[in-house]
Amino acid sequence: MNYQHIMASIDFSDHSQYIAQKAKNLATVYSSKLSLIHVLDNIPMPQVPYGTVISLTENTDSDYLEAEKQKFIQIANQLNVTDGCRWLVWGNPKQEITHIADQNNVDLIVMGSHGRHGIALLLGSTANAVLHHAKCDVLAVRIKEH
Ligand code: AMP
Repeated sequence: MNYQHIMASIDFSDHSQYIAQKAKNLATVYSSKLSLIHVLDNIPMPQVPYGTVISLTENTDSDYLEAEKQKFIQIANQLNVTDGCRWLVWGNPKQEITHIADQNNVDLIVMGSHGRHGIALLLGSTANAVLHHAKCDVLAVRIKEH
């Protein structure tokens, strides 16, 4: 009954470390595999099809993408996420989070109750969509402002 594969979903908002650490703690308690995902949705990449997994080792000519990669790698390193469990993906967050979870037999997605998109909704739009579309359990970590 224990979770076998937990995936932390982070958007690089201020709460990302907190969410990732919660996922890490759960993975330790359950001795489960830990994955980390960030979906790039705020940089133009016209030549790259939606759903493309971005290589963390090859250099690109975009400074912005390099900066995003470094932020992602730093958090992945802090959590000791193994290379095959690091998902930096170009696309639509709700689609890619559920797709990658599904393809990799993730049984628990850990995410914030809201993130970059603010607290206009009780449950943010990404959190809400993942909760409705994921085939596995979803833990919405309550984010309090202040
Ligand atoms: P939101 O519903 O967009 O306010 O965000 C809620 C949570 O969804 C965030 O705290 C993250 O855990 C996750 N999330 C939102 N956007 C992304 C993204 N681009 N990549 C990965 N996770 C995300």
